[in-house]
Order: sequence, then structure tokens, then C-alpha cells
Amino acid sequence: MKRIRLLPENLINQIAAGEVIERPASIVKELVENSIDAGATRVEIEISNECRNIRVADNGSGIHSDDVALAFSRHATSKLEQEKDLWAISTLGFRGEALASIISVAKVTCLTRTADSPHGVKVECENSEITISETGCAIGTTMEVKELFYNVPARKKFLKKSQTELASIIEVVQSIAISYPEISIHLIHKGRTTLKTTGSRDLSTVVSEIYSRELLDELVEVYKDDSQDKLEVKGFVSNPNFTRSNKKAIYLFVNGRTVKCPILSKAIDTAYKGLIPGDKYPFAILDLIIPASEVDVNVHPAKREIRYTNPNQMFNFVYSAVKSTLEFNSFSSSTISSDAIVSPSRSGFQSEYKTSSKPYFPVANAQNKVDFSKMQEKIGKSMEFFSPPTQSKIEFNEDITTNANWFKVIGQLFNTYIIIENPEGLQIVDQHIAHERVIYEKLKSSQNFASQLLLTSIPVELEPTQISGLEENRELLAKFGYEYEIENKQVTLKQVPQILVNSAPDKIINDILESLEGSLEHIENKILITTACHAAVKAGAKLSIWQMEELINDWLNTSYNKTCPHGRKISHIINSKEIASFFGRIETN
Ligand code: ADP
Ligand code: MG
Repeated sequence: MKRIRLLPENLINQIAAGEVIERPASIVKELVENSIDAGATRVEIEISNECRNIRVADNGSGIHSDDVALAFSRHATSKLEQEKDLWAISTLGFRGEALASIISVAKVTCLTRTADSPHGVKVECENSEITISETGCAIGTTMEVKELFYNVPARKKFLKKSQTELASIIEVVQSIAISYPEISIHLIHKGRTTLKTTGSRDLSTVVSEIYSRELLDELVEVYKDDSQDKLEVKGFVSNPNFTRSNKKAIYLFVNGRTVKCPILSKAIDTAYKGLIPGDKYPFAILDLIIPASEVDVNVHPAKREIRYTNPNQMFNFVYSAVKSTLEFNSFSSSTISSDAIVSPSRSGFQSEYKTSSKPYFPVANAQNKVDFSKMQEKIGKSMEFFSPPTQSKIEFNEDITTNANWFKVIGQLFNTYIIIENPEGLQIVDQHIAHERVIYEKLKSSQNFASQLLLTSIPVELEPTQISGLEENRELLAKFGYEYEIENKQVTLKQVPQILVNSAPDKIINDILESLEGSLEHIENKILITTACHAAVKAGAKLSIWQMEELINDWLNTSYNKTCPHGRKISHIINSKEIASFFGRIETN
């Protein structure tokens, strides 16, 4: 038996590094989190050399020159002073392990300077040996990690293809960028920008910077708070039509910290149950804010797992927030009860759709997908039987191949739905919602909010908070064509956007008030949506064929014609195969 001896420091660090530094993405995560803990508002990440070189530069506090050597030794941290701090952690790091681990598996150069120091410090680490010298540099810290795993060939061998490592770096950076909308994050790979956020402080802006503007149309805002228990959940979830085949686009944060949290995942899954197929996932960004004492983050070395004091409470809180958001946006079901054809004011949404228990997503249809050309052939053949053969065949082919936007208005149902024939089959379009989408996009692109003076309008009595909301946003609302007088708790609309002159102005005020919550960009968008909603043709209004044709044409030319700006479905298609198979004209299997 060999004698026992203490491991050399470098080896201890390498063993510890095995837990923290699995791959390049782990280094990116640790370094960027350090920048955030240091109060940086700008972080630049540069990746090269097959993801083995990582440079992270920030404009944060810098490291005091007397502490710099300590920062690179194990269990050295500025973030935890006494035991009680461990139970109320508010920084991302706290173990003081990352830098010590990184220098044990890579060559590191660090430039750092604090605001009160006239010069900076340069630290060079190789084989865990540190040399420190004075240097000129900007306030903040730049960590340059080179040749990752140069001294650990076994680990180097396990690095995946550079493309795969980069993908996981992007995932880490995306997640951090989403959780810190106030920080401008720039990821550069081989000299080219891969991701850039501007630090706008607005989550929806960050989402559009990382993904696209179009994605925003698919999302609805989630917000719920419980002032008694000091709980808050906020973020976005996608409408049930927009799904993904993996969970990568579910971003979960607890107090701004990225977490893997089965409890929150389950809460989201449960809220979407019956709305999306079992093998699909929504896009979701949710940040749960809870008192630091209610959560223990000290479970996993990479600090992604957490424990709650009261997991049931968290589950219920998040579940009900997501569920009621989906219900409020009327995603809870696809069918409308027959007595529910009313003008969809914001508050009308819930009651209109809640009654039905049918699943939102037509799962059976998805399974029935068949080869379209075969089907066409079959339908063509069977149709020959009943009608002048050439005509029906030619019409069918022409429609499908020459113009995807071809349609013919058949008529109006309940003065609310426009029934059209198109290459796919029979389409039922909700006239109000389709028109709303048309107006919304026109308003958005033209930015023309010509305003019209109202001769008469009924004063509306409001709560003091509502009054102050209108006072505060007077300038903003004027930009969109709304002007009003406030007197003795009463508000009277004096001017409205031109397209609204025929609507009842007193009915708009409440919806406008509801628009005034959230970030500025959100408010502006919500005002547009409200304007569009009130200007759009109402359910129950009789339309002539040419009016319907014009509406459908405009609607088909909108950039996104599947849902209204609130996320409600605009149309339903009964495809030709379904119709043909119902009448026994094609075989079903
Ligand atoms: P931890 O983040 O858990 O404290 P690290 O090993 O990641 O441990 O960092 C050690 C210490 O180095 C930190 O506590 C902090 O004081 C300092 N530090 C590291 N990176 C930065 C940075 N970018 N800016 C300012 N200080 C930093
Ligand atoms: Mg750290």
C-alpha cells in the first residue's frame, strides 16, 4: 500500500475544474457572470481557435490591484463574507472556484483596473503560476483564456467539433442576454458578430435582437405578482400555434439566474396541456422573482439547480400565471360557442372562448397529412365522374400551381365569418379579426395617425390611478391620435385617430387604459392593437361580396395572417381532402 500524501495544489484545481469547466461554454458562462457581478453594462465575448481561445472584456468594477493574485486562488471570492450570506445569495458567483479552475486548464491573461486606480494590472497565469505587472488599461476587466486544455490532453480530446462547442456557447450567451436586458452583450466568433444586444432594458427588444421581430408577434406577455409573499413572475410565452420540437427555447430564471428547474418546467407543461401536441414545446421566457431566503442555489457546482423552501407554492404560482395568460389571450380553445358572437373588446375575450372544452390543437389533422399530389390525382379522378371532366380537373390544377393566394368568396356566415374557397379547401375567416390584422399592420408601417376632432363624446368617470395614467401618457397618446380633457375625475375624448371616428369613443377609453402597462415599446404596440381592434369591422356586420373580397385580399397580403395581434386565430381551413373523404370520394386510411 502506498503512503497517503496531500495532492499538489495544481492537481486539486484540475480535479475541481472537472466539475466547473466541462467545455468552452462553461468558461464563457463563468467569465460573463463575473462581469455581471462586477456591475458591467457592456460585455464583449470573442471566440477563436476552435473555441479554445475565449476573451471576455467588460466595463465593470475591475479587481483591486492588491486582490488580483487572490482572485485566481481557490475559494477566493469577494461575494461571500459570512455564513449567513450563503442563505441569501444575490450574485451569480460565490464559490470562488471559477478562476482557479480556469487557470489550471488554460493559459490566462487578465487586464484589470478599478476606477480609483491610476493604472491597471496585468496578470499572466500559466500552469497555475501567476506573474503580475503594471499596465495601462481601461476601467474594467479583460480575461483572455488561451489554449484551453493545453495541459490536459485527455480533456482536449473530448472537445466536440468547433461548430458544436460554438452552438453551446451561443446558447449560454443567449440565455444570459435574455436575463440581462439592461446589459449590452456582444458575441464575436472569428471576427464576426454572432449575437448583439444593445442593453435596451426591454425584454421584447432583446428577443427581437436575438431572434427576430416576427417572433414577437407569436408571444404574449406574462405578469403576475403576489405582494404578500413577495413573489413575481414575468416574461413571455408563445401562442399555442407556435411550438418548437425541443425545450431549448424555454428560458427559466429565478431571481435573474438561469436555472434548470423541473418544477417551473412542469408548471409550463401543465398550463399548455391540451393546447399543444405532447411532443412539442412552447417558446417561453419566465423569470421568477422570490425572496433570496426562499431559494437555495448552493446545490450544484455549476449552480443551475436550485431548491425551494416551498416548491408547491412556486409551481402553483407559475402555473396559474401562464394558464391565465393563455386564457386571457383566448388560446384556451378553438371553438366559439354559438351565442358568443360579440364585438371582442379586450374584456370580452375571456368569456367568448372559455366555454368550450375541445382541445385547441387539431392533433388528428396533423396525423392525416398525405402526399398532396397523390390526393389531387385521386380527387381529380373521382371528380371526373360527376362533372364535365376537363373543366374540374383543369381548375383544380391551375389553382394549386399558379397562384397560392387564389380565392373565391362564397358568402358570409352569421354576418361574422367570411367563407372562401381556396386551393387548400374551404376556409372560414373571422371578419373582425382578419380586418384587425390588416389595420394593425397598416398603422404600424405607415405611422400615420391622423387625428379627427370629435363633435360630441360622453365623459367617462375613472379611478384616480386611471386618471393619473392618462395624465402621464398624454404626450404619448397624442402621438397616436388621442387627445382628451380631464375634469373632476371625468375624462372626455376630444380627438381620436381618423379611422375611429365611427366608433363609440367612450368604449375605447377602458381599452386604452389597459394598454398603458409595461415597457414603452409595449405600450406603443398595445395602443396600435387597441386602435386596430376598434376600427375593424365588427362581428355581426353584414358585408357585400366586394367588401369581403377586398378584406380577404388585404388580409392575405399581411405579413402574418394566421393570428390577430392579440394572438387569436383568424381562420380555419377544412381541407379538400377532409371534404372529399367525408363524401367518400377518396379512401381514408
Ligand atoms: P466567484 O465569482 O465565485 O467569486 P471567481 O473565481 O469566478 O469566483 O472569481 C473570483 C473573484 O475575482 C470574484 O469574487 C471577484 O472579486 C473577482 N473577479 C473575477 N472576475 C471579475 C471581473 N470581471 N470583474 C471584477 N472582479 C472580478
Ligand atoms: Mg465567478
